[in-house]
Amino acid sequence: MMRAHNFSSGPAAMPSEVLIQAQNELLSYDDSGMSIMEMSHRSKYYDQIHNETMELIRQLLGIPANYKIGLLQGGARLQFAMIPLNFMSKGRQAGYVLTDTWSEEAFKEAEHVGSAYIAGKNDGYRRIPDSNEIEIQRDTTYIHLTSNNTIVGTQYHDYPQLNGVHLIADMTSDIMSKEIDVNSFSLIYAGAQKNLGPSGVTLVILREDLLEEESSLTMPALRYSSHLKENCMLATPPTYNIYLVNLFAKWIQQQGGVAMIEKQNQKKATLLYDFIDQSGGFYKGYSERSSRSHMNITFHLPTKELDQKFIAQAYQEGFIGVNGHHRIGGCRASIYNGVSLQSCMELEMFMKHFQDQNG
Ligand code: PLP
Repeated sequence: MMRAHNFSSGPAAMPSEVLIQAQNELLSYDDSGMSIMEMSHRSKYYDQIHNETMELIRQLLGIPANYKIGLLQGGARLQFAMIPLNFMSKGRQAGYVLTDTWSEEAFKEAEHVGSAYIAGKNDGYRRIPDSNEIEIQRDTTYIHLTSNNTIVGTQYHDYPQLNGVHLIADMTSDIMSKEIDVNSFSLIYAGAQKNLGPSGVTLVILREDLLEEESSLTMPALRYSSHLKENCMLATPPTYNIYLVNLFAKWIQQQGGVAMIEKQNQKKATLLYDFIDQSGGFYKGYSERSSRSHMNITFHLPTKELDQKFIAQAYQEGFIGVNGHHRIGGCRASIYNGVSLQSCMELEMFMKHFQDQNG
């Protein structure tokens, strides 16, 4: 069966092996005679998947024992609200490093709750602020950053050291794409829909000591402690989506774990950036080299008309989702975990061919 070369920014490509297994188990999971989506979340089958998924994530990311793992709903967007609602206690502040629309959106939610300030930002968002450009004001509980900026195509390659202030990161568009030192963060969250599964599941990794900051004024349904106490079954969990995350996590394990996935992702990104850099200016990268994202390759052609022609022709040839975000225009190839090196090589060939015809 023909599978598209899917370069969408999210929801994004899933490995074919994962979908085939889901297809094989669609009507009857194990000996149950039922699909996962039809059975109780308290059943022995689902219970095993639920706990195994958290354990797989713990192993893959090397998450220490003093961190809790949550599988929540409401998207990364709900985390934008839950974080300040829980951790911006009275009289204290939170700093936001702005690097793209998504961090701006997170900041807006925090401004609703209390005293949030911009801890770092630069014009045009073409690069990540250096550590010495981040300003931490007095009485700050946490600093929030976005590890990979899906729209502009920038990514942190080192994280700031904050000396006692909690670091919270939105890793929606690079979770599981590379190794991270979880110890540097008090809270990590990520929608699963780019590198780890379908939409509808939000991974939360939270260091236990952060719970001491949790506000008792927040409604129980929006508190981290309520969800964690019920093993993320406070509401009926998105069982089928978590099952797909489980299969995706096993697929990552079979590839050799996150270290091997990182190598593969680096290869894919280097292939496309090298080609862009050697195109004699026909293709121009959007972000500065030192901040380039290994997940979202953003670029422009010499004119807006050529951008449009490129996107339309790419679509005809089976390359889906290469349009840039409307905010910056141009083109974007999102090369998350589910996008193969082969798809990237074929995109490179298409780009070369397009340049030969239009350059
Ligand atoms: N944060 C980042 C970095 C994103 O790329 C996105 C979506 O693309 C979001 C947050 C919003 O995620 P959700 O749709 O799960 O709320």
